[in-house]
Amino acid sequence: MNLRPETGLTFDDVLLVPKKSSIRSRSEVSTKTTLTKEIELNIPILSANMDTVTESSMAIAMAQQGGLGILHRFMSIERQAEQVRKVKRAESLVVLNPLTICPSATVAEARQIMKAEDVGGLVVVDEQKHVLGLVATRDVLLATDEMASVSTVMTPRERLVMAQAGESLESARQKLYQARVEKLPLLDEEGRLAGLITVQDIIKIQDHPFATKDQHGRLRVGAAVGVRPEDLERAAACVEAGADVLVVDIAHGHSQHTLEMVSRLKKTFPVVALVAGNVATPEGVRELAEAGADAVKVGVGAGSICITRVVTGFGVPQLTAVAECAEEGHRLNVPIIADGGMRTSGDVTKALAAGASAVMLGSMLAGTDEAPGAEIVRQGRRYKVVRGMASLSANVERRKLDKPLQEEEYSEELWSEVVPEGVEALVPYRGKVRDILHQIVGGLRSGMSYAGAHTLQELWQNAEFIRITPAGQKESGAHDVSLI
Ligand code: 5GP
Repeated sequence: MNLRPETGLTFDDVLLVPKKSSIRSRSEVSTKTTLTKEIELNIPILSANMDTVTESSMAIAMAQQGGLGILHRFMSIERQAEQVRKVKRAESLVVLNPLTICPSATVAEARQIMKAEDVGGLVVVDEQKHVLGLVATRDVLLATDEMASVSTVMTPRERLVMAQAGESLESARQKLYQARVEKLPLLDEEGRLAGLITVQDIIKIQDHPFATKDQHGRLRVGAAVGVRPEDLERAAACVEAGADVLVVDIAHGHSQHTLEMVSRLKKTFPVVALVAGNVATPEGVRELAEAGADAVKVGVGAGSICITRVVTGFGVPQLTAVAECAEEGHRLNVPIIADGGMRTSGDVTKALAAGASAVMLGSMLAGTDEAPGAEIVRQGRRYKVVRGMASLSANVERRKLDKPLQEEEYSEELWSEVVPEGVEALVPYRGKVRDILHQIVGGLRSGMSYAGAHTLQELWQNAEFIRITPAGQKESGAHDVSLI
């Protein structure tokens, strides 16, 4: 037995002491961070891999704003891979495999494909993939002869504007603008279709200048996996679909099976960034890093919907956990992700100041439009559901996913077998992710200017925490006024 005399601290126990600052405006501050060697983020925020927080809509919104979404794993392998594909398709300069149709297909077929795939046009190609023309919705929507061939209604090749593969954004923009057309097919050296650039994609790119992108200009996305043998299959399907990051996410990440899974994944997918967790001690960081983790997630029992500490008695107050783990992470050059327990932009700033390279948020994002949780109206107010991934209902649903049974077989025993370590709850509806992130990042930038820090590294160096009393806590919020 080792009864450690020192005290573990968390966000509300401390404040950051203001430092001399040369920063005149929040815009002088950079919130850029390195998540893993290959992956940089313009804002150091990840959305949690929870089924009420991150599916494809959240992951798209997070990456568009410069953060990263981690898709949860409590769905079939096929569905998770499809979600990865959705994010990768959401925004890129070049559509690498544009939808095509042959010239002899009918107008009705072209219309049906455009409707099913939700696209505004198809490239007409021959069998060798030489471009013959373009057929757009306007060519087929009002056509009277359903059985006419596509070749009779398409814009023929000689009237198209085209470019070579490798076309730059600026050059594509100029070509499309000068010709006042919406689509630019790209050709390879043999004149075959190699991609497509559309006006819509260029507009999206202009709208999100800080987005987190891969080398092909597609949004980046992470996928969570577990530690069971079938999770190797899950990882393979997600990597095949284009996942940039795999996150081995286990409540007690400092465990033999996690270490084994991490080294197996590192060997199987050496070029994919690998995050592992969760741990709350420097030893946990070191062992996961030695097993092959490129970044380590820290937080045991800190989450808003988490009752691990109550049920098991285990955990480390989150600020102490992050600070101790970050010291080891900096020594090993392994970034630390502070996961759970943050409720305000001030908490985010404190977690980063304690040495984390990024934070992972659950409840702070669960009330947004992009979160998959159900919406509920209570006494005229809008809420969204958030639940712990170890909550009773999440546990039971997971078992159903593992072993589909007949409805009548879901006996009360199944429910009573579970020992939940999470709860289900409501959070206020909060609008768009973009607006919430704007508030959080605005608070962080302001916080960094109080620290005199232009960068996260300077924030780590300059951070000085002061412990406060309950009176100090009371003084820190709005007090002695009636809130309107
Ligand atoms: P939040 O930002 O809501 O405070 O915390 C989110 C984090 O809580 C997640 O990223 C995850 O690490 C953790 N978490 C999610 N569900 C559960 C659960 O059921 N039990 C526990 N112990 N932690 C959970």
